Amino acid sequence: MSHYEKPPELYDGLRLHQNENTGGCSPRVLDALARLRADEIGFYPPYAAATDAVATYLGVAADRITMTNGLDEGIMALAVACLRAAIGGPQLEAIVPEPAFEIFRFDTAVAGGRLVQVMPHADFSFPIDEVIAAITPNTRVVFLTNPNNPTGVGMPLEAIRTIARRMPPGGIVFVDEAYAEFAGESFIPELDDFPNVIVGRTFSKAFGLAGLRIGCLVGAPATADPIRQAVPVYSVNVAAVVAIQAALQDHDYLRDYMRQVAESKALLYAACDRLGLTYVTSRSNFVLVCAGDRTDALVKGALAKGVYLRDRSTEPGCAGCLRIATGIVEHTRRAIAVMEEVLCAAR
Ligand code: PMP
Repeated sequence: MSHYEKPPELYDGLRLHQNENTGGCSPRVLDALARLRADEIGFYPPYAAATDAVATYLGVAADRITMTNGLDEGIMALAVACLRAAIGGPQLEAIVPEPAFEIFRFDTAVAGGRLVQVMPHADFSFPIDEVIAAITPNTRVVFLTNPNNPTGVGMPLEAIRTIARRMPPGGIVFVDEAYAEFAGESFIPELDDFPNVIVGRTFSKAFGLAGLRIGCLVGAPATADPIRQAVPVYSVNVAAVVAIQAALQDHDYLRDYMRQVAESKALLYAACDRLGLTYVTSRSNFVLVCAGDRTDALVKGALAKGVYLRDRSTEPGCAGCLRIATGIVEHTRRAIAVMEEVLCAAR
């Protein structure tokens, strides 16, 4: 198995390579953290209030929520619970429409599952026919992401319904909604009708809590139960527990970030048009930019100037592409200025 190549630990410059909220968290989160008492830190954390807050935010009953230490942990738990083969049983399969969040591939390998990759269409439209054709009696997970990372493209909710109806018994459709706030669309309201679908959410992106590590899985209790058993009992720490409750109360902070994301994307699209770069129109807080044979020079040149961009050119269908977070407008403007400098210098 190849190892997950974690992005390098770059913290001195402008981090536009991991889709984080570069404005950080709401000030209310900092206040809540400052108010944490010594005894609260001394005890294992209580989860009921935070789970209720998350359930209210997502519009579901609390028994639908499984809190995890970042969505990463939820994905690993799901992979382990669903893809671990029984002794003497067949190898179980995970379908990943590419390009996708690389973690799906690595977690499938860790769990001993067989990875079935579905290659992308040139325009990144969702390959529904190919995904359906890839389903077998041994399919246990289909990993979907809406909107997708790294393309930022949304997928039709109808495709999720179709795949869910075609899954063999015991198979789960996982819908990763790490960026759902930006698209304003979710499969969560349909979960009662589709008990074999689990939705994943994170508070790392729109809410700026990536450093605290908190996310959740949402789905029918009977479906979630085996996955819950693969989540360590106290994996969400007390700082994340108080932070999420404060973050969910600050509607203005979220609204302002969303407004900045929309403005940042418009600025970046216009800059790409000026610079002769193409891009994929995004429903997320990042944009996949196609710089062709200038990609490597652009990513390295920006790095030298303290702006971190993510080269995605080795991902399926993404040759010559890099991904840029488009959040705080001031940061986007700085990134665009650096991109212009680097590309003009390379001429
Ligand atoms: N899913 C997708 C599609 C992501 O892009 C990310 C973060 N890069 C995650 C899940 C993991 O999020 P978290 O920080 O909550 O582990």
